[in-house]
Amino acid sequence: MIPVQGYTGKKVAVLGLGRSGLAAAIALEAGGAIPVVWDDNEAARAAAERQGYPATDLRKAGVWDDIVSLIVSPGIPHLYPMPNPVIRNATMAGVPVDNDIGLFFQSFATGEWDGFDVTPRVVAITGSNGKSTTAALIHHILQHAQRPTQLAGNIGRGVLDIDPAHDGEVVILELSSYQTELARSLTPDVAVFTNLSPDHLDRHGGLGGYFAAKRRLFAEGGPDRAIIGVDEDEGRFLAGQLSEGAADDRVIRISVDRKLTGNGWSVFARKGYLSEYRKGRQIGSIDLRKVAGLPGAHNHQNACAAYAAVRTLGLAPKVVEAAFHSFAGLAHRSQIVGRVAGVTYVNDSKATNVDSAEKALQAFKNIRWIAGGQGKAGGIESLTDHLGNVTKAYLIGVSADEFASQLGDTPFEICATMERAVAAAAKEAQEGDTVLLAPAAASFDQYPDFEKRGEDFTNLVQAIL
Ligand code: ADP
Repeated sequence: MIPVQGYTGKKVAVLGLGRSGLAAAIALEAGGAIPVVWDDNEAARAAAERQGYPATDLRKAGVWDDIVSLIVSPGIPHLYPMPNPVIRNATMAGVPVDNDIGLFFQSFATGEWDGFDVTPRVVAITGSNGKSTTAALIHHILQHAQRPTQLAGNIGRGVLDIDPAHDGEVVILELSSYQTELARSLTPDVAVFTNLSPDHLDRHGGLGGYFAAKRRLFAEGGPDRAIIGVDEDEGRFLAGQLSEGAADDRVIRISVDRKLTGNGWSVFARKGYLSEYRKGRQIGSIDLRKVAGLPGAHNHQNACAAYAAVRTLGLAPKVVEAAFHSFAGLAHRSQIVGRVAGVTYVNDSKATNVDSAEKALQAFKNIRWIAGGQGKAGGIESLTDHLGNVTKAYLIGVSADEFASQLGDTPFEICATMERAVAAAAKEAQEGDTVLLAPAAASFDQYPDFEKRGEDFTNLVQAIL
């Protein structure tokens, strides 16, 4: 655990008592603060009370007089579409709002570091898609190279739950836009921006607000190195803003669209080959087509970002290449769960929106596509032109009929359940086909979450194997 510094003897309010909220209360107390906790949900309050944190109703007037800060969980709206009433009360009373990420950056460095040979560092990853994969890949490469490292944030442990840093350790943090928007202290040594596509717009008041939330990771602390995906306007703009010019190698530009062979520092992947260029010369190259754990251009983007991150930490290209080959991939993200009679089964249950589903549909050929669930606005309208690799769609969930009407000429079958979809796809699949679960929809109509949906698919496939 990272005891929170800076609040000894002071009252700090904590709103939201899920995993990160409770961890914040514990870490605040360990640092000598007095946590004052609240959750709008009664069951969450009861659970916190059992852990020794009885709730104080922060919706009441007058409670804020001696509270110095409010720590908010990422799931709670602080501004859009409407501020939570507790947050509104805090801001009316002039109390600053922060989150566990801010507390982490404020508390990570300690006096013990004076005795270290190598100062610990933090690599933080944000972006719309690929954060978990990139974070896990960086962690894997460092482990492979036998460097001390911890993985935290949305993936791995809660940020305040990790161990205090060891000599030379690298902490990898996966950060969502909710987290970067609120953290008052945000000072990674290396910051990564994978890509940008519209998501969570209701919480950020539109695309501009969403981009601004992510951009704080680069603006607030000024990382030593910024690794930026430049395949969208926003990434190109951000890279330009952070550098003195194209040759400034504090920014490493990443692309899977274009060769970047100019004067700066860049890592790009074209036709399955990753290349690193610096000052106009090629420094490294890796054949990604042979890397089983990172299929498709979207994963090549993650590979470029992870490669760049560990290069800034001094690892050699050949070490990174060897580590790529032992990366198993993450569950539910383009995860190969089995092969039988020349048919490959892929679980991409995390493809909960059309953008990530589109990437999966580009990553494989001869696809028997299992899709549907709780569709998002517009269904799969925007995918109609990206179905060239799909032999047939097997539709499940409440969106099945809507998706069927948006498939154009692509053959389909309404299967309703995962069980029927897997059985039908497996029966019809020919050698060389890929049976791909990439739902382009949330799972909540049939499952508690995307993980359970992916596990159901995987179990059904394993029964066939
Ligand atoms: P995040 O943590 O940002 O949600 P994940 O690594 O968990 O990202 O992947 C989420 C979904 O997006 C999965 O369906 C995955 O296959 C897909 N995906 C992964 N990397 C990328 C990328 N670089 N661009 C677009 N989609 C991606």
